[in-house]
Amino acid sequence: MKIVQTVEALRQWTAEQRAQGKTIGFVPTMGFLHEGHMSLVDAAKRHADNTVMSIFVNPLQFGPNEDLERYPRDLERDQAMAESRGVDLLFVPSVSEMYPQPTKTVIQVSGVTERLCGASRPGHFDGVATVVCKLFNMVQPDYAFFGQKDAQQVAVIERMVQDLNLPVQVVPCPIVREKDGLAMSSRNVYLNDEERKQALVLSQSLVEAKEAYEKGHSPEEVKQSILARISGQPLADIDYVDILSYPALEPIETFDRSFLIALAVRFGKTRLIDNLLITEGRGREKHAANDDECQNTPSYSY
Ligand code: AMP
Repeated sequence: MKIVQTVEALRQWTAEQRAQGKTIGFVPTMGFLHEGHMSLVDAAKRHADNTVMSIFVNPLQFGPNEDLERYPRDLERDQAMAESRGVDLLFVPSVSEMYPQPTKTVIQVSGVTERLCGASRPGHFDGVATVVCKLFNMVQPDYAFFGQKDAQQVAVIERMVQDLNLPVQVVPCPIVREKDGLAMSSRNVYLNDEERKQALVLSQSLVEAKEAYEKGHSPEEVKQSILARISGQPLADIDYVDILSYPALEPIETFDRSFLIALAVRFGKTRLIDNLLITEGRGREKHAANDDECQNTPSYSY
């Protein structure tokens, strides 16, 4: 596995690959890798000749009171994991390599960023869209792989790619979970034992929500039962619970389209997100956690 820190070295390598007719699959990450990230690498290897992974903790997407400084990092371990899983090139730029001067150009995707994390983390998706656009321009991948764990992020990136005619195919991939259901996240290491135990309420409430939806409950009823279930855990501090159409991420009154049930809950200092994506109406849904293949955008029908 080749490791590069500069845009110039990255471009040289990708140009060589393209000259040989090789396709490139790209997996952008913030590092502290886990099986969720690795599933994106597996998907990239299935789709493309070469897999490029980036590790960059992007300051632009963190708010002033968020965890930029303490975000977990372990480059040595990440390198070993990426290499053993078959990443061909690891791009690890510094902040000054990515932002040699304060950026005056920001990509702002409206609409899909109005609710959920877009509302509770102002500016977050401007930072995400801007860095992903920059990374796409640096890597020029044929395919780019994103986890449905960050379902709103997928919607934002897909919309940006459509609106700006970026020549890349976005491939959303299912959520990877721990055996007990907790969605994998680099931030899970922040949790103490009790928080980790109570955090299981997220995935459990989504499983119950799916059952309630299948029994014919309305979105509002399902939302209220999730709120009640999560509030039952004393350490849970709910940021949001919402049920929206997907990928437009607009409020719905009935379950007649593809929709997303999304949660953000704090346990102590740790803010966790989880979600359940149900596609194309009743009877054709599939829990993202049970999928074993990535879904090619823009079709979410199974
Ligand atoms: P991050 O390093 O947290 O920015 O995540 C990098 C990529 O990995 C994003 O596309 C995430 O959605 C994806 N990802 C993170 N956790 C998971 C997970 N548990 N399952 C699937 N994808 C994930």
